Amino acid sequence: MAKQVPDSITPATRLVTAGRRAEWTGPVVNPPVVRASTHLYEDSAAQQAGLRVNQDGVFHYGARGGPTQWALADALTELEPGAAGTMLYPTGLAAPAMALLSVLKAGDEVLVSDNSYDPSRTIAVHALRDYGITVRFFDPLDVAGFASMIAESSRAVLLEAPGSVSMEMCDIPALAQTAKARGLAVLMDNTWAGPTGFQAIRHGVDMSILALTKHVGGHSDLMLGSVTANAEYYPRLRKRSLMLGQQAPPDDCALALRGLRTMALRLERSSASALTIAEWLQHRPEVAAVLFPMLPGSPGHDLWKRDFTGGCGLMTIIMQGGDLAARDRLVDALNLFGIGYSWGGFESLALGSHPERDRDILPWPPRGIDPDNRHAVRLWIGLEDPADLIADLDQALAAWRQG
Ligand SMILES: *Cc1c(COP(=O)(O)O)cnc(C)c1O
Repeated sequence: MAKQVPDSITPATRLVTAGRRAEWTGPVVNPPVVRASTHLYEDSAAQQAGLRVNQDGVFHYGARGGPTQWALADALTELEPGAAGTMLYPTGLAAPAMALLSVLKAGDEVLVSDNSYDPSRTIAVHALRDYGITVRFFDPLDVAGFASMIAESSRAVLLEAPGSVSMEMCDIPALAQTAKARGLAVLMDNTWAGPTGFQAIRHGVDMSILALTKHVGGHSDLMLGSVTANAEYYPRLRKRSLMLGQQAPPDDCALALRGLRTMALRLERSSASALTIAEWLQHRPEVAAVLFPMLPGSPGHDLWKRDFTGGCGLMTIIMQGGDLAARDRLVDALNLFGIGYSWGGFESLALGSHPERDRDILPWPPRGIDPDNRHAVRLWIGLEDPADLIADLDQALAAWRQG
């Protein structure tokens, strides 16, 4: 058994030993890689008994995972108070897919937050609809409107906070409570803050979804996803995921466990640098808005402060006027920011974004911003010295001006 850790211990401390169990990993500090498909049994009786035992942490066959996967899953469960278990997936995107497939069947409806990560929207629109599931999008900032949309056939809601690219901060406890009162399963993509920044299940969520590819991996060298669920939803999540052959590679799980040990430190640095940079950017004449809920005075900051204990260095800036060519000049002029997808690694990234392509309801730019300002750049702030990043942004803003 794992040593009992008092509830008062903070996530940063939990990260250090989470998932370490002597019966799985022996005396080794960080759980080693156990690569396994086949379990060899003593005799037929043992093989037949093994078939009947179907629980996490009992090795049967590689498809049900082995010690390295269990250690990572166990660590993620330990980080989410109120959780009963965690399933792992080979990509972050497989996590919302499996969470949705574990609670929905033909004839059901799922309500999807309009600012969800766009590939999650695609799962809903292009896969779930093919399976006879109805999909409707809703404005996550309108709790009363959401309540009025819930229908007889509504079975689940997919939330995300802050919203993808547009970074709206919604009231997760209020939305979760509203959904639960009507019997809906509450799914939330918690990748932005992660379990150290937002304890989703304690705030009313049933299944907390993470792209481990981002902060947990932390080094831009692996793809993994997870869903951590409460006791009501974990059994069906596990059953459906194993039925559909979902498992994560042990080598990547070992890398993710290594990443997890330093995650709090990396997120602290990334968030602090992002805040410094956001404060600097919001006073620049080239920038119309900085969408970053950790920034005091920015949209959603009060909700972030009420419910979250942390975040990460991912933000979006909206340029003051200009055009797409100017936006691309800005991105291309940056020397210390790579142009690339994904985030959560040690290196800073910049990317031109088009959130208006992935919205049914929410306006772009967000309410309160002059509609003439719409060209957006998503910034991920890595572990570099923020003074160097600011100098780099400064020279790139000069390129933006020289149109
Ligand atoms: C990146 C991301 C995912 C998907 O993760 P992949 O590992 O890239 O498949 C899901 N949700 C959010 C919010 C993400 O940022």
